[in-house]
Amino acid sequence: MPTRTREGYCLGIESTADDFSVGIATFKGEILANVISAYMLPEGGIHPREAAQHHVEVANKVLEEAFQKAGIKPKDLKVVAFSQGPGLGPCLRTGATVARALASYLGIPLVGVNHCVAHIEVGKLKTGAVDPVTLYVSGGNTIVAAFDSGRYRVFGETLDIALGNCLDVFAREAGLRQKLGEPFGAVVEKLAKNGQKLIPLPYTVKGMDMSFSGLLTAAVNLLKKGETKLEDLCYSLQETAFSMATEVTERALAHTEKKEVLLTGGVAANKRLQEMIRLIAEEHDAKFCVVPSQFAIDNGAMIAWTGVLAFAHSMITPIHRSFVRLRWRLEEVEVPWMK
Ligand code: AMP
Ligand code: MG
Repeated sequence: MPTRTREGYCLGIESTADDFSVGIATFKGEILANVISAYMLPEGGIHPREAAQHHVEVANKVLEEAFQKAGIKPKDLKVVAFSQGPGLGPCLRTGATVARALASYLGIPLVGVNHCVAHIEVGKLKTGAVDPVTLYVSGGNTIVAAFDSGRYRVFGETLDIALGNCLDVFAREAGLRQKLGEPFGAVVEKLAKNGQKLIPLPYTVKGMDMSFSGLLTAAVNLLKKGETKLEDLCYSLQETAFSMATEVTERALAHTEKKEVLLTGGVAANKRLQEMIRLIAEEHDAKFCVVPSQFAIDNGAMIAWTGVLAFAHSMITPIHRSFVRLRWRLEEVEVPWMK
């Protein structure tokens, strides 16, 4: 890294969807703070403007707590990074506004970070993976990616809803209840453990892409008929959806011949999915790496760390170009630090 970027702190703001989070990383990759405030979803799922309102209300407190945890003052910062996209407009704009204000006030550079790149980078940082095939599965994304020729290339992705969203909507339709801080995916996982019968459900892999909406509709229809045990439905839903993601990941692994598989995103917490990905990794003599959940869900630390990498390669975002990018794709971003 250039000398000027050897010492310092970067603050990262994450606000692409339902979480508002602030992380602080040193230029060497230590994470000093990672404070996450999750917006508790009302019945119908995320409402972008209401989530953004939550972010506005908690921003001050989350920032303060992050500085406190890191034991540094705002004037100690050298860079401010923020998730510039992809994500929900009102949520992204709230984080971007806080980041711009902070960077302008402190007179330091601003770095716009791609949310998906950040998931991969923090995963590598926390697991020691160097050049993995990544399966990133969350409430908003389902992507199989790997580095090639200067960028993270998307090998496969969902054609409609994300895997996490599929589990969440099913759980809501089933009237499942969450305890405070417990995601719907975890509730489905618990019930699935007691499922015994594998019910045939639509399994849709097209080329390297996946589709989960037909699977969701079929599972909800069976649920409403009331003839199938909920545990069996949860089990079958998981087995089908996870097998699809595993098939695509395995094909990317066979094609790229990479030696590591990185599992990340909120759904990475699921033990059954971990087991499936571990199996294919072993079959291809690749190391299986799973990101610790604090860094697998949406978090500010990943934005801070990716901000450090970008800043070290002079990838600074002037304020007048810091508009949010709702559909910013992973493979549009150059990652010079991977060469
Ligand atoms: P994120 O979008 O990265 O913030 O992650 C949230 C998503 O992860 C939601 O769809 C959750 O239901 C899902 N999730 C969290 N824990 C689990 C789990 N144990 N099994 C399956 N999905 C989970
Ligand atoms: Mg989230």
